Amino acid sequence: MAGKTVKAGIMDYQKIIERIAEDVSPLLDKGEVASYIPALAGVSPSKFGIAVATVRGECFTTGDASECFSIQSLSKVFTLAMVMDRIGDALWERVGREASGNPFNSLVQLEYEHGRPRNPFINAGALVVTDCIILENHDPMRDLRDFVRTCAGNNTIGYDESVALSEKETGHRNAALAHFLKSYGNLYNDPGRVLDVYYHQCSLSMSCKDLARAFLFLANGGTDPVNGNIVCGLRQAKRINALMQTCGLYDEGGEFAFRVGLPGKSGVGGGIVAVMPGELSIAVWSPGLNTAGNSLAGFKALELFTTYTSKSIF
Ligand code: GLU
Repeated sequence: MAGKTVKAGIMDYQKIIERIAEDVSPLLDKGEVASYIPALAGVSPSKFGIAVATVRGECFTTGDASECFSIQSLSKVFTLAMVMDRIGDALWERVGREASGNPFNSLVQLEYEHGRPRNPFINAGALVVTDCIILENHDPMRDLRDFVRTCAGNNTIGYDESVALSEKETGHRNAALAHFLKSYGNLYNDPGRVLDVYYHQCSLSMSCKDLARAFLFLANGGTDPVNGNIVCGLRQAKRINALMQTCGLYDEGGEFAFRVGLPGKSGVGGGIVAVMPGELSIAVWSPGLNTAGNSLAGFKALELFTTYTSKSIF
C-alpha cells in the first residue's frame, strides 16, 4: 500500500493513521530516548501514538494515543499563546522571530546578540516568555495548568513533579541561560523562580489525544472550534503558526517544511504536534529521537500523513 495516496471525498483519517502506525513500526527502536533529563531516560522506545482532532469536532486515535508523556518543549506553544494574548507586541522587544540555526540550548548566540534570544522556542526565548507569564499571572503555575486544561478539555492534566525535579537537578545549561538573560536585564524575575516555572511547564503530562485537542485553536484562527472559546485572536494564531513553521523543529525546520509541510512543534519527550489550518491538528508520540532531537518515527509519521492525505499548507 505504501506510496499510494488515500483519496476520498471525506478523508478516512482513522484508516490513514492506522496505516501510518504500521508503516513506521520498524523505526521505533531506531531513535535514542532523551537521557539528559534522567527522569525521561526510562521511557520505553516502543511507545507510539497518533491523534487527529478536526475542526468539526472529530477525534481519531491509534496506538498509545491516550497514554500521557512529558510534553517538554511543546509547552512553549501554550506559554507563547498566553503571553501574546496578554502583552501583544511588547514581547518582541525582548525576543526575536528568526530561526536560530543553533542548538535549542545554545549560549553562544545569546552573547553575540546581547541577551535577546532569536525566537520564543529556543530555551533562552522560552525562559523570557516564562518570565512574562510570571509577571502577568498571580499564580503562574496554576494559571498555565488551567489554560492547558481548558485548551485540551481535560481537567486532569497536571505537572509531573518527578520530571520537574529531575530537570532542576541537572539543568545547568538552562540555569546558565537564565542567569545570562538576567545579566543582560532581559529577565525581570529571579532566575531560580523562572527556572522553577519553566521546568514545571516542560513537565506537563499529556497524551496525543489531549495535545491534538489542545492545539485545535491554532487550526481554527484562535478559537476553540469545539466549545467556541476564544483562546487568542486570529492575528496571534497566524503568528504562532508562522513561528512553529520557522522555529518549531530545532535545527530541522527546513527539513520539516520540506517533508511534512505543516507548522509544527516538537519536544524531547518524543512528541510532535502539527497544525493544518482550517482543518485539523495532529499529535504524534514516539520517544526515540533522531540526531536533531526530533522524534524519529513521529517525524516520519507526519510526513506520511501529508503524503497519504495529499494535504499541506504549500
Ligand atoms: N525541558 C527541556 C530543556 O529545557 C526541553 C527541551 C525540549 O523539549 O526541547 O532542555
